[in-house]
Amino acid sequence: MTRPAPSPVRVGISHCLLGAPVRHDGGHKLDAELTDALGSRVEWVPLCPEVEANFGVPRDAMHLADDAAAPRLLTVPSRRDMTDRMRRYTVQRLRDLRTLNLSGCVFKSRSPSCGIRDVPVFTRDSNLLGHGRGLFAEAFQQAFPLMPVEDEERLRDRSTRDHFLERVFGYHRRQCREEQASPPPSPD
Ligand code: SF4
Repeated sequence: MTRPAPSPVRVGISHCLLGAPVRHDGGHKLDAELTDALGSRVEWVPLCPEVEANFGVPRDAMHLADDAAAPRLLTVPSRRDMTDRMRRYTVQRLRDLRTLNLSGCVFKSRSPSCGIRDVPVFTRDSNLLGHGRGLFAEAFQQAFPLMPVEDEERLRDRSTRDHFLERVFGYHRRQCREEQASPPPSPD
């Protein structure tokens, strides 16, 4: 009897880190060290919340603003509020990502959409109010609370990177065990 092919270890990644020209100015943030180190071990699942939410390229730069505990996503300097559009996209994208069985995710640091920590939040007058998480990244972590996530800045450290990979593979092994243990779908 042939064994089923092992499922790939899929890891989400902010698309700009793979070199895709998706940033607001049409640029990218290729992190070759990261992609060289992990690219042969995992299958990347690129995501770019701002492009996938149809904000376009190029687009106005954005930042988090107004309330450090519940920040809004605003364009700079025009202060167009993109929060609701980002939230609507996020609900749909998280639903799609559930079907892909990701085992981890690498986010772009300090982005108002993708940052998982230390994202600056500003007052109306552009003074620093505090720090938070990017809107998409925060919703992602709430949807997948146990999934390993990191940002590319922390993964520049070799031991942090190795530890992240260990957690990703451990998470994947658990997913495989759960999949094998779950009963087959009923025929009706
Ligand atoms: S940080 Fe996130 S939203 Fe911004 S360009 Fe990169 S992938 Fe897109």
